[in-house]
Amino acid sequence: SIVEKRLLVTGAAGFIGANFCHYWLQQHPRATLIALDALTYAGNRHNLEGLEQHSGFRFVQGDINDALLVERVMTDHHLNVIVHFAAESHVDRSIHDPDAFIRTNILGTHNLLRIARAIWLDGPQGWIPHRFHHISTDEVYGTLGPQDPAFREETPYAPNSPYAASKAGADHLVRAYRHTYGLSTTTSNCSNNYGPYHFPEKLIPLIIVNILHNKPLPIYGDGRQIRDWLYVEDHCRGIATILEQGQEGESYNIGGCNEWANIDIVRLIGEIMDELFAEDPRWLQAFPHSAAAQGRKNADLIQHVRDRPGHDRRYAIDATKITRELGFKPAVDFPTGIRQTIRWYLEHPQWWQKVMDGSYQEWLDVQY
Ligand code: NAD
Repeated sequence: SIVEKRLLVTGAAGFIGANFCHYWLQQHPRATLIALDALTYAGNRHNLEGLEQHSGFRFVQGDINDALLVERVMTDHHLNVIVHFAAESHVDRSIHDPDAFIRTNILGTHNLLRIARAIWLDGPQGWIPHRFHHISTDEVYGTLGPQDPAFREETPYAPNSPYAASKAGADHLVRAYRHTYGLSTTTSNCSNNYGPYHFPEKLIPLIIVNILHNKPLPIYGDGRQIRDWLYVEDHCRGIATILEQGQEGESYNIGGCNEWANIDIVRLIGEIMDELFAEDPRWLQAFPHSAAAQGRKNADLIQHVRDRPGHDRRYAIDATKITRELGFKPAVDFPTGIRQTIRWYLEHPQWWQKVMDGSYQEWLDVQY
């Protein structure tokens, strides 16, 4: 319904935000897209390299809690869409130190909502067409038993970690701004993403990078925790579909219909990397410290470690609504997506070496 979409993308230098900026500007090369990011440990300016060629692209370093900055960016560029990714996103960090999660995920989201309302609904120009799209997670729904039906949009919220609770709080605020003030909002709750630019503290890139260093592959508890996994580009396409066709006030589950136990993912990554190294000796030379170059099988590196406190056993997402109503379906199957992801990490060692700098090492020291 909005004629020309002029986007503020928050958290644009993070994993999914960056993938989304690349995706959106590929689809709409002349679009206005202002990328806002505080560049916390998880944000990386390099994730947006190559986008400067688009005349409508700008990067702004800043915090979503900085009201003056956000207001200025919104009005200077006449932005009418907010795609809100910015968040503290790592469950383990939220267990160690929840404060930042409350500040960014709840207060930060509220700050954006308040500014959107002030500019779009109560501003000098009066009501203007707009959309606030909020990116959330399936973790707000809590945990499932092995036989439970997958999460639907109507499933009651039951967040278990400080991370999930902070995202749930944000989701409720988005809903309330629509209900109370008539802000045009949509929300998507997505399952676990994987793909390029994924910070190597998360399971899939961590396993890839550790194999490349011949380091143990840590598995929480028995490794039978089940998650649904979605290739990040499919998620980006799902978000774009909602921006284009989603009904205001609605929330949409996005998932891969692809449940995997952690331990099976680690085994799959190990097998595919064994294959890639066997197919192409170039990788043995490029990664002389890798398990393969050291003559070890990747699976032998698996090491079970103490389980995460309060670890949810299973998430599964029922994404029939977005398929039925908006015709969206994921396109990339898991083994293909994992293979593409591994290749990306093999081809971009500078990227992950750079992000695993001092502050990341400090976190590893706290954790292990
Ligand atoms: P990420 O940690 O890689 O990126 C988050 C980005 O937000 C970083 O670039 C960081 O610098 C930025 N940021 C953090 N605090 C900020 C602040 N106060 N102001 C401005 N920028 C700030 O996370 P991600 O995996 O890309 O997740 C993006 C969004 O998607 C989050 O809202 C997350 O809850 C949601 N989500 C993620 C997944 C997943 O599997 N990764 C799944 C479902 C939903």
